[in-house]
Amino acid sequence: MKNFAKEFANDLVNLFFPLQCLGCNSPLIPNEKNICVHCQLQLPFTYFHLDENNPMAQKLNALLKIEATTSLCYFEKNSVFEQLIYQLKYGGQEQLGTYFGSLMGELLLALKEFKNIEAVIPVPLHPKRKRKRGYNQVTLFGKTIAQHLDVPFIEGFLLRTENTKQLAKTTDDRNAVLKNAFELGTKNSNPKHWLLVDDIITTGATLDACGSLLLKNPENQLSIATIGYRI
Ligand SMILES: [Zn+2]
Repeated sequence: MKNFAKEFANDLVNLFFPLQCLGCNSPLIPNEKNICVHCQLQLPFTYFHLDENNPMAQKLNALLKIEATTSLCYFEKNSVFEQLIYQLKYGGQEQLGTYFGSLMGELLLALKEFKNIEAVIPVPLHPKRKRKRGYNQVTLFGKTIAQHLDVPFIEGFLLRTENTKQLAKTTDDRNAVLKNAFELGTKNSNPKHWLLVDDIITTGATLDACGSLLLKNPENQLSIATIGYRI
């Protein structure tokens, strides 16, 4: 009875203040959460994991030694996916990380290349930016993947020591600064097959900077997964 009353109250609230889809702003119907079915069907999945010439693997392998990699969706201008990433990063919609993490977690569970991942680690935000945003936008993405793979999610081992947004003006500056923007923390870490996660891969410079640190221990292995891949 209590649940019924709660549901009724929720329905009533939704009737007057309908929850909106974070992709297209249309009102959500019952059973839709955050994203309407229409937008979900529009998500441009990359299917890189099925591609022999996986372009993300080619891009990253040119920079550092990786075991396996994939990205969920293509990131294009003026797309529903771009809007969702905007909401995740700047709209306070942290829970979208869980949505994308579930999709990625299901995907990775079915792939043998990712079977021996031992820990998931996010690209860190500079503490100042994290304070401003209130959260790291890839934390819930990584945590949800770790739950699916049944491995620990390790935050705080990789640290961001430079606020690259403030320091770098051009792409070249940014790449140079990124190389020195991260450090390994003092947390204890045995050799591991790490899954490094980030929101969008563009040039791969951020992932290279973080991944190189994780590979400083020659016994470590590195795989990478991102929510989006900028074309
Ligand atoms: Zn929608």
